[in-house]
Amino acid sequence: MVLNHRNGFIEVIVGPMFAGKTEELIRRVKRMQYAKKNIVVFKPSIDNRYGDDDVVSHDDNRTKSINIQSAQAIIDHVLDETDVIAVDEVQFLDVETIKILNAYADKGKRVIVSGLDLDFRGEPFGIVPVLAATAEYVTKLSAVCVKCGAPATRTQRMVNGKPAKYHDPVILIGAKESYEARCRHCHKVYRKPKDPVVNAL
Ligand code: ADP
Ligand code: MG
Ligand code: ZN
Repeated sequence: MVLNHRNGFIEVIVGPMFAGKTEELIRRVKRMQYAKKNIVVFKPSIDNRYGDDDVVSHDDNRTKSINIQSAQAIIDHVLDETDVIAVDEVQFLDVETIKILNAYADKGKRVIVSGLDLDFRGEPFGIVPVLAATAEYVTKLSAVCVKCGAPATRTQRMVNGKPAKYHDPVILIGAKESYEARCRHCHKVYRKPKDPVVNAL
């Protein structure tokens, strides 16, 4: 990070599940706490819960956060004196997020977001690639492939012990599903439609 920057920019942390995105977000938030900055941390609640909670990593690092159901709710909690806005799991937020977070960066706030850049099919996940394109700094983290040990860039969804089907919904609530970090080569999607151009290669 350059030292002589002007206030107001966006940092995006991306990668598959287990890559350490939440750990990295918490690390950056903690450093801002030491700097005595005014920070608000958000997390989308994809179920119906509403109320304050924690952002928690797979290794149980945590920081206090506000559950939100839409980007609009960010506005209710950001004040003039807010220095830092952090959002974990940003892939679950709506398209308004891009406009709102950019406006806050324009106003001089440090915006730190983390989320999945690819869905379980290995395809760009919602607003994240667009947000990354508007950001000043993008950190792409990898996990470790549970099959071969290579750097994992993808999230494998398993349903009842088998790779999930291509046409399954991107957000699957209530199903007996599990997720693994995998590299490109070990990542499997059941019944992925055949593409004539790709097939001819
Ligand atoms: P993310 O937010 O990207 O899903 P977290 O920050 O919550 O990731 O958790 C990262 C931690 O997950 C790592 O520090 C490690 O202890 C653990 N972990 C579990 N499985 C894996 C894996 N396959 N590759 C890398 N880290 C893993
Ligand atoms: Mg996370
Ligand atoms: Zn692999």
